[in-house]
Amino acid sequence: MVAISSWGRLGQWEHDVKPLTDRRQVAKIIRDNNPGIAQGMARSYGDVCLNPNGILWKTTGLDRFISLDQSTGRLVCEAGVLLRDIQRLVIPRGWILPVTPGTQLVTVGGAIANNVHGKNHHVLGSFGDHVQQLTLLRTDGEVIDCGPQIKQDWFAATVGGLGLTGVILLAEIQLRQISGPWLETETIPYENLNEFFSLADSSEVDWEHTVSWIDCISGEGRGLFMRGNHAEKQNRVEPNNRSKTMPIVPPVSLVNRITLRPFNMAYFNLNRMKKGRALAHYTSFFYPLDNLLEWNRMYGPKGFYQYQSVVPRADGQEAVQAMLREIARSGEGSFLAVLKTFGDRPSVGMLSFPQPGVTLALDFPNKGAQTLKLFERLDAIVREAGGRIYPAKDARMPRDLFEAGYPRLAEFLPYRDPGIGSAMSRRLMGY
Ligand SMILES: Cc1cc2nc3c(=O)[nH]c(=O)nc-3n(C[C@H](O)[C@H](O)[C@H](O)COP(=O)(O)OP(=O)(O)OC[C@H]3O[C@@H](n4cnc5c(N)ncnc54)[C@H](O)[C@@H]3O)c2cc1C
Repeated sequence: MVAISSWGRLGQWEHDVKPLTDRRQVAKIIRDNNPGIAQGMARSYGDVCLNPNGILWKTTGLDRFISLDQSTGRLVCEAGVLLRDIQRLVIPRGWILPVTPGTQLVTVGGAIANNVHGKNHHVLGSFGDHVQQLTLLRTDGEVIDCGPQIKQDWFAATVGGLGLTGVILLAEIQLRQISGPWLETETIPYENLNEFFSLADSSEVDWEHTVSWIDCISGEGRGLFMRGNHAEKQNRVEPNNRSKTMPIVPPVSLVNRITLRPFNMAYFNLNRMKKGRALAHYTSFFYPLDNLLEWNRMYGPKGFYQYQSVVPRADGQEAVQAMLREIARSGEGSFLAVLKTFGDRPSVGMLSFPQPGVTLALDFPNKGAQTLKLFERLDAIVREAGGRIYPAKDARMPRDLFEAGYPRLAEFLPYRDPGIGSAMSRRLMGY
């Protein structure tokens, strides 16, 4: 048994880890060793990739590229391949992953199972929109090839299916064509939510990528709006990105009432000075946090939660304002507060998180009951607004909020593999 935690480091739990490395052996391993759950890079914050005291199928050894058609941008690879390795392979060849989350240190399987989104949801949807086909292996040995054209029901269950329909072995992804690794970007400070929404609306047509950092302490909703488009070819030397690693776990969280206010103020003021247009390399635009590996350690030994919700646009502004006020009043919250709008487009998966509206994501140091109480107040706002919480980031949402937020749950359940279960599936689905 090995003690494993996920990105939030809320605890360490014993797991019987079965590494998956050879695709031909996976059927036997998962048939002989279940119930279990697949785990990629464990970049999910909570319990979606955990199975305490049970079996964990570690997929990072399934890391082979199968084919890349350079004329069409069709890539086939195993599900344990990292998005980072795809980007490094395809960007010099004029292609890029169309959708990518805020870290590239995740696997293709993890990106599909959570149907992850990036900064361009309003233009290109989420990761699953670009998967042309995937191969799913069930614990009884059945192999299901599915996609938008074949066995669409299995595809819709597996994209955003939280790893519960089978182990994804292979995926075929349609890449997006680009001229190079650079983006033309613009940073615009905003003082309140009205300004945020008008920037988001006016950027939708001309800017592929939009996101904003929001100061969760000021309570007013000031922040920095960032937008970007892929640039034409540039004659620039690429940065030599050498990541640093957070060397230790400090005895207490470095994110606390004393540090939060000055940090947010300094961040806002420093970046306000950098406002305007710039050319940014894709690594710094898409993955700024990957420069400090294991930054999750800064929250100390008790770890941290992320609370990410999406609420429909109709009451979105009021709901976000209400959440920000609750958070400001509590004095909690984080440096890493993100606010962005999702486009008006349906998601592929039955349990996919993105829905038209506005999404707010914040990290909170784990202070036990006090933090959980705050989440209950935020839950009430999300529930009232008809929103939902993101399972990839969650470790505690109540079951009734999950059921309310994901109305296609009953449709999804028949596709579950009886040999698969996670801490999250037991918490939110009862098994
Ligand atoms: C710094 C940071 C920034 C992030 N930014 C974003 C963001 O902008 N947008 C976003 O959507 N998410 C974001 N995330 C969340 C992250 O993208 C997702 O949690 C992603 O799913 C993690 O992939 P993973 O390989 O670590 O999978 P894990 O966390 O290990 O697993 C996630 C799920 O995938 C399943 N799974 C993994 N491999 C397979 C497989 N082969 N077959 C079947 N199921 C499988 C697991 O069972 C589990 O249900 C961020 C996370 C971090 C740490």
